[in-house]
Amino acid sequence: MASLDDISVTEIKGVGNALAEKLAKLGIQSMQDLLFHLPHRYEDRTRVVPMGSLRVGDVAVVEGEVMKTDLVMGRRRSLQVTLKDGSGFLVLRFFHFNAAQKNQLGEGTRVRCFGEVRPGRAGYEFYHPEYQTNPPPMPDASQATLTPVYPLTEGIQQPRVRSLCQQALKYLERHPIKDWLPAELLADYQLPCITEAVKLVHSPPAGAPVHLLVEGRHPAQQRLVMEELLAHQLSLLQVREQIQAREALPLLPTGDLTERFLEELPFKLTGAQRQVMSEIRQDLSQPVPMLRLVQGDVGSGKTVVAALAALQTLGAGAQVALMAPTEILAEQHYTNFKGWLEPLGIPIAWLSGKVKGKARQQALEAVASGEARVAIGTHALFQDEVAFNRLALVIVDEQHRFGVHQRLALREKGVGGSLAPHQLIMTATPIPRTLAMSAYADLDTSIIDELPPGRKPIETVVVPDSRREDIIERVRSACREGRQAYWVCTLIEESEALQCQAAEVTAQELTERLSDLKVGLVHGRLKAQEKADVMAQFKDGELDLLVATTVIEVGVDVPNASLIIIENPERLGLAQLHQLRGRVGRGEQASFCVLMYHPPLSMNGKARLQALRDSQDGFVIAEKDLEIRGPGEVLGTRQTGLMQFRLANFERDKGWIEPIKEMAPSLMKQPRVVDALIRRWLGEKIRYGDV
Ligand code: ADP
Ligand code: MG
Repeated sequence: MASLDDISVTEIKGVGNALAEKLAKLGIQSMQDLLFHLPHRYEDRTRVVPMGSLRVGDVAVVEGEVMKTDLVMGRRRSLQVTLKDGSGFLVLRFFHFNAAQKNQLGEGTRVRCFGEVRPGRAGYEFYHPEYQTNPPPMPDASQATLTPVYPLTEGIQQPRVRSLCQQALKYLERHPIKDWLPAELLADYQLPCITEAVKLVHSPPAGAPVHLLVEGRHPAQQRLVMEELLAHQLSLLQVREQIQAREALPLLPTGDLTERFLEELPFKLTGAQRQVMSEIRQDLSQPVPMLRLVQGDVGSGKTVVAALAALQTLGAGAQVALMAPTEILAEQHYTNFKGWLEPLGIPIAWLSGKVKGKARQQALEAVASGEARVAIGTHALFQDEVAFNRLALVIVDEQHRFGVHQRLALREKGVGGSLAPHQLIMTATPIPRTLAMSAYADLDTSIIDELPPGRKPIETVVVPDSRREDIIERVRSACREGRQAYWVCTLIEESEALQCQAAEVTAQELTERLSDLKVGLVHGRLKAQEKADVMAQFKDGELDLLVATTVIEVGVDVPNASLIIIENPERLGLAQLHQLRGRVGRGEQASFCVLMYHPPLSMNGKARLQALRDSQDGFVIAEKDLEIRGPGEVLGTRQTGLMQFRLANFERDKGWIEPIKEMAPSLMKQPRVVDALIRRWLGEKIRYGDV
């Protein structure tokens, strides 16, 4: 019997080439694809809502009598039909209409319509609602069903998709969907089989519990959610398996370089740093590629850990690559590593997108010949033209900005032959446990859960920007006492140009106002050298105040800076604010963070800033951030499509994560099942399987 996978959607009557092409844009080719094009929500057209209880944004069925119909001239000519139902009024507005329509909607006509509530001139309005005049009685509530709403693409309307899915359902009679999950498992969780589940979500039967369906908690939906989350988990585990199917160079600790490094270090490692180091040391000595994520809050000392991992690699005679997401951060690592490693006789190469011409050529040659033992840079390091001599360890800082794709591209840069490099990923954004379990299933995790001794807590205050004068004075007095300060400008516009402009204006203003201080400016549009110069001056204490855009968000380390002013913090995510705040509190003095917002603050905005004021624990803040913004934003993967689910919703469905983690390993032993589930749920999105 043909499987649904092999039946083309063109089998459906009325699906010609043009429509098939549009469907292909939605990833729909086979009947199975169509059936897995699932409604992402439902419209409740089962009951009539009284007009008096409508709120802006509600999507509802209303029914009433036409009071009057007017032709309104205004900016755009429109037909305005006022309805009443005894509880209130509602205006239907049509910008496109004909005479017949106007006559049809005459005074006294009963109309039932469906639309979204918008605020209008004289009350609430529906624009171009679907409507019916003199409607039949509403179906009895027990007979009513919800209307599915599908994701669309250009050129296909909702009713069309609805009808296609209904037709595809007919094929289920003769071609049930293959259920890949063991029956016992479904029984354990009281979930229906896949065919039942798919049928139900496309076409909820009369009397199915409306609130469960609307919330996505119906067992049929949960069955699909679970399978979807499982497919994502399996795809990550598959990546891990593929990477670890390659061999890696075992890097045995030699000790010599490490000892000399530790002797020179002006501090002792914390217990947490030592613990994480021993985990890394163990991984590196294996002949399989390490895949390890190190999480540590801002300032927990990840850089030293990276240096130690690098030394173990260098001790074994191999090369190290260290990649950071921004020029500033990469440069800072470069400066740190030069300070630490060059005295040990280890040459380092610098490669960023901005290194050009001869300097670039030289760096490339040094990396290719193996003369440079460590290469540090931005993602420019992983372009095709960069060839390594004997690369055995790749360190990626602040990984959440890179995403899985880049992580996979690293495999290709290995030691040569069949050997793959070890991978060490460091993130300063603590990742909520649930999220880490699903988004980083391909990595082992280490956590640096201790800050170096002597850190003083940062006092955070939330003030309106009407207090700007006071704050400027505060900067003046702190700097007079020998401290340094950051002033961070944010703009909601995505445009980097505008951000930089705002910072320039502020720097200008502050330079004039604080004429007794030395003020510097750093933003993303400066040349790499200019940026590096300003940062170096600030670090050396030649500048008192550094005005910056959020480019300083990650990693910048100047221990004498103890005051940070963040303008318009309400525009940033919590994790980002926590990062910014982490620029201070690195030295001996008490530190302050001033969150200077522009009133009025929304309720949500207030809660967010309060959360930040009340906690300095990155994990607590990350949980809040996840609640407020969702996983795509927290992980920075929204654009890449990963962690974008069809049905699953991270908050609602996080209860599945633990069970899925338990069931995944045994399923991994059945490659056919794994492939089928990944294909079903992730489809063509996952193209990194080609080892
Ligand atoms: P992050 O984890 O945010 O990348 P860094 O590696 O930049 O943190 O370290 C923050 C600061 O703490 C740096 O100035 C670093 O030299 C210092 N540091 C790191 N480890 C220790 C330690 N064990 N004791 C004291 N200071 C430390
Ligand atoms: Mg860092």
